[in-house]
Amino acid sequence: MSGGLAVVLGIRPDVIRASLILEFLRERGVPYTFIWSGQHYSDNLKDVFFRQLRVPAPDIELGISAEHDAELVGRLVIALAPVLEWLRPEAAVFLGDTNTVMGCLAAAQLNIPVVHIEGCMRSYDWRMPEEKYRTIVDHLADVIYAYLEEYKRQGEREGLSPERIVVTGNPIVDVLSRYYFGRREHFEAVASPGFFQARGLRRHHYYLMTCHRRENVQDRAALARVLALAGAADAPVYFAASYRTQRMIKTFGLTLPETVILADPIGYEEFLTLMTNSRGVFTDSGTVVEEACILQVPSVQMRRSTERPQVYDVGACVKFDPGDAAGFSVEAVLDRLTRLRGKTWPNPFGDGRASERIVDDLAARLSSGRFAGHRPQDYPMDVSRAYRGDGL
Ligand code: UDP
Repeated sequence: MSGGLAVVLGIRPDVIRASLILEFLRERGVPYTFIWSGQHYSDNLKDVFFRQLRVPAPDIELGISAEHDAELVGRLVIALAPVLEWLRPEAAVFLGDTNTVMGCLAAAQLNIPVVHIEGCMRSYDWRMPEEKYRTIVDHLADVIYAYLEEYKRQGEREGLSPERIVVTGNPIVDVLSRYYFGRREHFEAVASPGFFQARGLRRHHYYLMTCHRRENVQDRAALARVLALAGAADAPVYFAASYRTQRMIKTFGLTLPETVILADPIGYEEFLTLMTNSRGVFTDSGTVVEEACILQVPSVQMRRSTERPQVYDVGACVKFDPGDAAGFSVEAVLDRLTRLRGKTWPNPFGDGRASERIVDDLAARLSSGRFAGHRPQDYPMDVSRAYRGDGL
């Protein structure tokens, strides 16, 4: 087998963000094989998103799951390599900054061009494995789809060739336009009194929280501050917590404030319903801060650094660093969040056509065989000296 694209995804937000890209690839008749790493595998972290966003099941499921990052990445490279070797795609497409993206090493070993969607985002925070993964995949990539011009400039500053970076806008805008804004009546119907009652909530009288980042869940004091913030809020907090976070709360022996309702991760329809009817969102998720900003829901971003500073630029979000003991003031954070209520701000993430642009570009490259970057002429500087003769 050879030709087409191999699209390699593996976690919840991948299905969401790539849902329209996959749909447009099918509509355009662009041949692709959809490979699922297995990083997320349970119904509430994987299948529910396929069902709700009508994404066809993956063609190949590698079934890689592991306790540790090294194990996951190692096994993924080992499992993906023979699949790519058999498929021999024109390019292997990766999205984001997760362990699954490190499958790009298998493509690199086989000299299969690498495409990176969500390229050149940087938090400039070297504590984050995600930052290292982004840097690795961008520098291996032959084609990079960057969401914003400013990300392209970040890539250029690292020496990446502007020729290889295509600015597209952020596909999450497209997904929300179609899935949420295009179905407002449906979402209004979902938001019945019973929906909120079943979760112990009253519409507009609660906050929504997620928290899964290492910096917040592996440090007892930081996780305690996250819970303290939630506990100090002026309404109950619905905490859709990742399984690791739930485990760490137990391991650290932390007590959940009485007003915090701990729940397992939920489907997209439920999550968007809860987000859009909440007083605000507390989160350390990259995608959730984008969504809150686009949906005009005030948010607190619980992270020391972010690769999405636009949410602060437009005044949609309050920063809270749970790792910072000295600057810790729940009152100040909650007060600033309250002041965002009723305000509006522009959407800084794109015009809703990113998925289309990505698919157009992929289709054009497939028909002209233009995937391979890193030719001598693709470097942003003169590299001819590396190819010189010995002059004898
Ligand atoms: N999400 C969801 N249910 C949940 C928590 C999150 O549907 O219980 C959605 C959320 O709307 C967003 C994505 O999952 O689209 C975010 O996933 P996550 O925070 O795991 O990933 P990150 O964006 O930080 O990589």
